[in-house]
Amino acid sequence: MKTSVELVESMTEAEVENLMSRLKLVQSWVDEFGRAVGVHKTPRVRIAHSCVHYGPISHTVGVPALHLVTLDLANLRLVVAHEFGHSLRRWPSLFSWTTFARMKEEVRADRAAIRLTGASIDAWETAVRAVMQIEHTDEIGSPDDALNELTLRRKCLEVSRL
Ligand SMILES: [Zn+2]
Repeated sequence: MKTSVELVESMTEAEVENLMSRLKLVQSWVDEFGRAVGVHKTPRVRIAHSCVHYGPISHTVGVPALHLVTLDLANLRLVVAHEFGHSLRRWPSLFSWTTFARMKEEVRADRAAIRLTGASIDAWETAVRAVMQIEHTDEIGSPDDALNELTLRRKCLEVSRL
């Protein structure tokens, strides 16, 4: 995928303006999620290099330019809600080093995303797949691993709904 720097360098002024308005929109969603759960210091949103993530040390949500301009708004909102979900467990998310602990944090963030957006599990899966399609096209990880993880996360979400 194109890194944010490569993408922004190839953009027209109007495209950059569109990107900045998307960034503002995403920040407004994060602030809205913060109000919904009573969090005072909501994460700042910034443009990330190549992967969508939450950074516990800087308390920021990073979204690459490509995600901001290509994801449809419903998918983008779900993805941002997931990262905001990680911010609710700022330090546990930093210290989850084992695969099992990391997976638990993923499912917690997924649950938060579904709760905050009111989305269905199917809509959640669509959003995760849309991100996978952007991020796993070349260098990052193996698509099989990502698909296995998706299946596991979905199972956990379904069990928790019973
Ligand atoms: Zn996550």
